[in-house]
Amino acid sequence: MSDREPIFVTQPALPDLEAFMPYLREIWDRRMLTNGGPMEQRLEAALCDYLGVKHISLFCNGTQALITAVQAAGLSGEVITTPYSFVATAHSLLWNHLTPVFVDIDPSTMNIDPARIEAAITERTTAILPVHCYGHPCDVQGIRQVAERHGLKVIYDAAHAFGVRDEGGSLLRHGDLSVLSFHATKVFSTFEGGAIICPDEATKRRVDQLKNFGLVPGGATVEFVGTNGKMSEIHAAFGLLQLEHLIEALDRRRLIDQRYREGLAKVAGIRCIDGVGEHLANHAYFPILVEPSYPLARDVLFEHLAAHQIHGRLYFQPLLSNLPMYRDLPSANPANLTVANRVVGQVICLPIYPNLEHETVDFIIGLIAGTNA
Ligand SMILES: *Cc1c(COP(=O)(O)O)cnc(C)c1O
Repeated sequence: MSDREPIFVTQPALPDLEAFMPYLREIWDRRMLTNGGPMEQRLEAALCDYLGVKHISLFCNGTQALITAVQAAGLSGEVITTPYSFVATAHSLLWNHLTPVFVDIDPSTMNIDPARIEAAITERTTAILPVHCYGHPCDVQGIRQVAERHGLKVIYDAAHAFGVRDEGGSLLRHGDLSVLSFHATKVFSTFEGGAIICPDEATKRRVDQLKNFGLVPGGATVEFVGTNGKMSEIHAAFGLLQLEHLIEALDRRRLIDQRYREGLAKVAGIRCIDGVGEHLANHAYFPILVEPSYPLARDVLFEHLAAHQIHGRLYFQPLLSNLPMYRDLPSANPANLTVANRVVGQVICLPIYPNLEHETVDFIIGLIAGTNA
């Protein structure tokens, strides 16, 4: 065992505690703690501005936002989605009494492969729920074309894609709705939190109502079976503070990403995953694939790193399609998902966060290259 400090895949960047005090004092003085207070309204405006979107509704977490987005889309029957994601993606369908239909991924991006979607469509299909995995953009045009041909809604799980832009602007403008997570492990965090990006004011009003029990504004009656998905003033205030440091944090992530890529480029059998197409990335994750030509098996490399206190993560193992509540679905058959089942045995997500020291990055590269151990 090594006597180094343990390094985990992510570490939240916390601003100076003193800087949070004025926000707290404001909340204490006002005594408005939640339910659409000024902090929530300010964070919504600030995020619209930062992200380049028109309408956003903040949530207590990304999972409630995802469940509510699926509910707001008014779906029935089957929804096509990816097996290569965090479990909240598929769970949001079960919470809405919908049947997930898994479609295999593109081995260059790990995102759902639009070319395989059409074959999975039946007369019960009502929507597609893709994920911008690791913050790398999906083939949004390919997905839109299939959706339009078959009259399907598209809801993006954009939990990894905060701040990502393509040549036309925010990646979050695509689809009927996009959903963000502000969990502590994400690029932008409010401790717990999330959001739905809405295309227009009417949709935002409906989503705001769904996250507030379905109450009509003013509370005279209840129109929908809504949930409590509201974000508190403290969480919103923390988001405002985080936003002040975000550009600097993204810049540090970019440099770490660059350092890994340069260092690992000459290691045979290790493949870094690139985002495809012109886009501004957020460097939320740093996944590598351990290919058969690498001298060690993936799990052996993973344990080797862990023995030196470098604790990567095997996102997204197990595949959603191999979990007990999904594995009996016809589409969950591994023969239907050969790329996802292969990739999930090759991936390791390496540590990446703003305060990760370049010396540690070099140490990790050395461990993988077999030059310093
Ligand atoms: C984090 C995450 C979620 C869930 O967000 P929470 O805020 O943790 O509830 C959903 N989908 C994906 C792909 C995620 O990574």
